[in-house]
Amino acid sequence: MQCARFREAISARLDGESLGMPARELDDHLDRCPGCATWAEDVTQVTRRARLAPSPVVPDLTATVLGALPRELPGTAAAARSRLAGTALRMALGAVAIAQAGLAWPALTSGTGAMSAPVHMAHESGAWNFAVAAAFLAVAGVPGLAAGALPFLGSFAALLVPVTVADLAAGHVHADRAVAHLLLVGGTVVVALVAWHGAHRRTHHASSARRVPA
Ligand SMILES: [Zn+2]
Repeated sequence: MQCARFREAISARLDGESLGMPARELDDHLDRCPGCATWAEDVTQVTRRARLAPSPVVPDLTATVLGALPRELPGTAAAARSRLAGTALRMALGAVAIAQAGLAWPALTSGTGAMSAPVHMAHESGAWNFAVAAAFLAVAGVPGLAAGALPFLGSFAALLVPVTVADLAAGHVHADRAVAHLLLVGGTVVVALVAWHGAHRRTHHASSARRVPA
């Protein structure tokens, strides 16, 4: 039973650590207990052999590893293409924002230009359309806002398209006014692409970060 304590002390002594008991007590036990004495001899042998053994030969894998690397590190060309696509999307969105603001401005300032709508309705729809332009511009400047802007832009576009189609069919809207709504739809699609692109880049980065240490 108590041999375990002494054997622990023996291996502590081999490792140069504190015995956890007086050295005298351990030596007394080794004198009296042939089992522990033999055990101590064995572990001393094993320890000495392990310390004297040459370190195992590690094969030089440098050439193999370098040969296995892709010619182009992942991420350089792909990341450049991805950045380019992101920039193109933001520039397109900036252009849509400017066009949208240009359309909204007259109605917002003069209260006219929205067909025969009452002045306040023209003001209100001008403010709406200008706000949409501001959202497009914000996403073009800060692509991280894209996902957050989508619920507003997406629902506005999703509601406006069917009512516009119905109004066109019933003759309630001029074709040029209806066509202007294509800016909203186009801009919203680009915002969705910017959001998707950002999410895609994040997951791509995360997965390549996981691959690196392998
Ligand atoms: Zn013992």
